[in-house]
This record gives sequence, C-alpha cells and structure tokens, in this order.
Amino acid sequence: MSFILLIFLMPVLDILRYDSATKELIIFGQVWSLGLKEGFYADPSASGAFHIALQFFLKAILPWLAILLIFPLLGYLTGRLFCGWLCPEGTLFELADYLTLKLTGRRSLYSKSPNDPDTGKFGKLIYGALAFASAIIIPLLGGIALTGYFVAPKTIWNQIINWNFTLGVKAGIIGISIYMLTTSIFVRHTLCKFVCAAGLMQMLFGWISPLSLRLKMDIAKGKDCTDCKECEKACFMNVIPRKNKRDISCVNCGACIAACNKELGKGRGLFHYSIGEKCTAPQENCKNLTGISPYHLQKEQEGVKIKAL
Ligand code: SF4
Ligand code: SF4
Repeated sequence: MSFILLIFLMPVLDILRYDSATKELIIFGQVWSLGLKEGFYADPSASGAFHIALQFFLKAILPWLAILLIFPLLGYLTGRLFCGWLCPEGTLFELADYLTLKLTGRRSLYSKSPNDPDTGKFGKLIYGALAFASAIIIPLLGGIALTGYFVAPKTIWNQIINWNFTLGVKAGIIGISIYMLTTSIFVRHTLCKFVCAAGLMQMLFGWISPLSLRLKMDIAKGKDCTDCKECEKACFMNVIPRKNKRDISCVNCGACIAACNKELGKGRGLFHYSIGEKCTAPQENCKNLTGISPYHLQKEQEGVKIKAL
C-alpha cells in the first residue's frame, strides 16, 4: 500500500514526471536536460560533436540502462519478490481476488474449485458494495494519478474541478481506468505470468541466479502434513507448493508459509524462505522431490492409494 501511495504521489511531489506542455522531464523537482547549450548543433568541430555524444550518453543512455537493470538485478537477488510484495498492479489483482473469494467462494472467476467461502449473507452485501465501490473509485483514482506522469497534476485537478477536459487528460484518465478495470476483473495474475516484462525479467534472472531468494520445503516435516490444501488455496499464482519443485511463477509472497504455519502451528509449517541453494532446515531436508509431495510419498509408503497431485 505504501508503494502504491508512492507511485501515486511521485508526480504530485515532482519526484518524477514528464510535462507534455513544457516538454520537460522533471526529476526531484529539477528539469532533467541533456545539458547542451542553445545552438549546440551549429558547432561543427570534433570537440563539439564529442561533447554532444558524451552528454547524450551520460544524461540519456546511462540513466535508461540503470533503470533497465533494476529488474534483472532484483530478480538475481530476490527472485520475484517485487511481484509478491511491491507491484501495484499485483496488489490490485490481489484485492480483486479477495473480493471475488468473499463473493463467490472462489478466488478466480475461471476456477471451478472453491477456496474457502467464509462469508455469510450479510457479509456478501458488504463485500458486494465494496467490490462495486472499488471497481469505480480505484480505476478512476489510478487514471488520474498515472496521467499525472504526463500532464501536471495541478492542471488535471483544475480540469476536474471545472469539468472541462483537454483531449490528452480525458484520454489518459479513461484509457488507464479501462485498462485497470478490465485487467483486474478478467486477466489478473495471468498478466503477471505471461505478459509483464518486469515479471519475466525477474523470473529469468531469479531462475539462473545461484543466490536468489526462494521458497523451500522441509521434506522431513512432510509426515505432519494434514492435506488441508490451505497452501494451494492461498497461492494466487496457482503454484502447488507441496510439489516441492521450483516453479517460475512463485513470487515469494509467503502466503503458503503463513497458511501452513496456521494449520500446523507457528514455526511447524513445511515451507520457509531460503537464499540460493541453501536451506534453513538441514540441507538433506530440502532436496527436491520430483513431482510428488512428502504427504503423498508417506501415504504411498503406508500403502494408502490417494489421488496424485
Ligand atoms: S508458492 Fe507460496 S510463496 Fe510462491 S507464490 Fe505461491 S503462495 Fe506465494
Ligand atoms: S503443506 Fe501445510 S498447508 Fe499445505 S496441505 Fe499440508 S498441512 Fe496443509
């Protein structure tokens, strides 16, 4: 929530915005320019050309490279932690999941299996009203706040107060609102899995990294598993943590850790975070099993035939 607030407030506080009226990029209250004097293109000398190339590299290419490096670096160190904890769009999708769960008993509009309906008739009315309000207020607020990255927020609010919009502001607010509304109703985390470039970069670099943050399972505790499936129900990325296989969709949100600890008691759950290949449980407890959960393995050894995961 704090990160969303920061994203919404950055243009208002002049931390970062492009002013399409003055054609200026503003960073921390200062106009970011190439630092070239007027008439620089009239200087035909080699030193003049070198100066222009250097300024262009330092003020345009280098900052972009630094920005583009953020997500690979995050992925290398933390896997998809950003997606699980900071992404504003992910938060919006989680809210949509939460309200859908409260209203229909299922987290996703497309899933058939229930995820714990835990609200009575009266609760449904409240959640229905909340869903309706969220579907209007959040996309509109998002539209206004994000349009502020291209049009001065003061100008936008003046236009809202006077109800007199320029085409750019109208298009920005309506376009962003429609995008937020439709993705949060129909697409949700499918976008995180298959479309988002930031997510894909973290996924790729987290996967190849020998030291990124990962979810691990202590297979020695597998016998304690009650097969409650709370870990699966909690995972909005549809990972089955008990499979104990590295899954590129895992965003290190920790929901399965909390769900299992709730079921088995604090600190007794099967899952934990680890850095790289290391494991906070004894190393042999974290060896990957291929496609079979400790629970099922245990049951198989006991001769009980149960449906495989
Ligand atoms: S497997 Fe666990 S940590 Fe990973 S996304 Fe699912 S709930 Fe979050
Ligand atoms: S791993 Fe934990 S949360 Fe998942 S089914 Fe077993 S006991 Fe339940």
